[in-house]
Amino acid sequence: MRIRTIGDDVLEKKARPVKHVNRSIRSLMDRMLATMYSAEGIGLAAPQVGVGKRVIVVDIGEGPIFLANPEILRAEGTEAGNEGCLSVPGKAGVVERYKSITVTGLDKDGHKVWIDATDLLARVFQHEIDHLDGVLFIEKATKVWDVPPETTLRIVFMGTPEFAVPILAGLLNRGCHVVAVVTQPDRPRGRGHAVRPSPVKGFALDNGIRVMEPTRLRDPEFLKEMADLRPDVIVTAAYGRLIPRELLDLPPMGCYNVHPSLLPAYRGAAPIHHALLRGDTRTGISIFRMTEELDAGDIIVQEETEIRPDEDRGSLEKRLAERSSEVLLKALRLVATGEAIPVAQDASKATYAPMISSADEAIDWQKDARTVVSQIRALAPAPGATTRLAGQPLKVLAASVWEGQAGDGLNPDAAPGTVLAIVPREGFVVACGGGAVLVRQVKPAGRRAMQAADFLNGSPLQPGDRLI
Ligand code: ZN
Repeated sequence: MRIRTIGDDVLEKKARPVKHVNRSIRSLMDRMLATMYSAEGIGLAAPQVGVGKRVIVVDIGEGPIFLANPEILRAEGTEAGNEGCLSVPGKAGVVERYKSITVTGLDKDGHKVWIDATDLLARVFQHEIDHLDGVLFIEKATKVWDVPPETTLRIVFMGTPEFAVPILAGLLNRGCHVVAVVTQPDRPRGRGHAVRPSPVKGFALDNGIRVMEPTRLRDPEFLKEMADLRPDVIVTAAYGRLIPRELLDLPPMGCYNVHPSLLPAYRGAAPIHHALLRGDTRTGISIFRMTEELDAGDIIVQEETEIRPDEDRGSLEKRLAERSSEVLLKALRLVATGEAIPVAQDASKATYAPMISSADEAIDWQKDARTVVSQIRALAPAPGATTRLAGQPLKVLAASVWEGQAGDGLNPDAAPGTVLAIVPREGFVVACGGGAVLVRQVKPAGRRAMQAADFLNGSPLQPGDRLI
């Protein structure tokens, strides 16, 4: 049945009582319930489907209730609460209602029933009975506002690591309808490699969201469950696996990925690492519509930001994740209102950012100082750029290009890797293939991360020592 919306006369008229609950009334009740379920409502009154009869259906998740000629017999207490209405799309408001009521009316078999209702159920009955009297909730509301269009979407969120958590949190804070979260199965993570749930799983469960952890995205049973969720869109953020065609085709409004780079730059798994490795000073966030080709789909929203000189992979990633949540909401609003203008990527300008491997962790002191610092920033705080001091592994977690003056007494001919000077309270200076770096933070093997100055307190490091 077609749901009538504000402006339709039938919503303003007083509905007529039902004389007998006969077959035609029972059929009306069934069709109203089906209409309400498909619109995801929790209550519906006959005038809302164009029928001027005193019939309502209600289901707040505890099973359907059908009532003809409903009346409130008793009412106690009042409470202000938020309401929306299928007949007033895009609006919500605060309405004061009785907190506890007794409702009477005729059930589907025509028997007289009495129902005690409190809180949400009481509110829904009052809202629906108002419809029978031609009253919409906005006429009683003390405050009315526009519902953000993105909150009308049914969203499945796919993500796994810490990066994805603020993005999911942003959806929930906005009031978006996240119907399920898909994440990678529990596996050894972090220190000690204990089997732990993904950060996204932990967050989703804490917030009462259904979690799915398929081992194969093409698994027919999983695809069936996903189809049953009827998502309008799928949003992915660092899920960690390619999304197959079967999933890409599932949501009618598309699959969107949050990618922390200015696409087409740095397509692939490690865009933040590679932007830092290259010593870039600008990066950004791209929300694009996913296709089968990796990170190649049309861009919906892109936002640029600087990379601050003091940021490493950890702090930049955290900032981009927090910002991504806003950028994603902007994109989803455009998608929800049909205003998104997808812009094709210029494939000829694409660059790639594959996963970082342990082979990328060793510091090559032959390189110039800027390159060495970029590598250290790209790998901090974990796994950390590595070097060796007197045969022992040493991770360098923070360093800057040494801006020493000519004639500051440092040996300009020292071999790369040579400790040139100790700088009290700051760290130590190491010669590179070009220039030198000031090491500020280190992590010796088997010990915690520490300021280089603290490391020097317990270490006999001297100018002339060599890092390899
Ligand atoms: Zn309503």
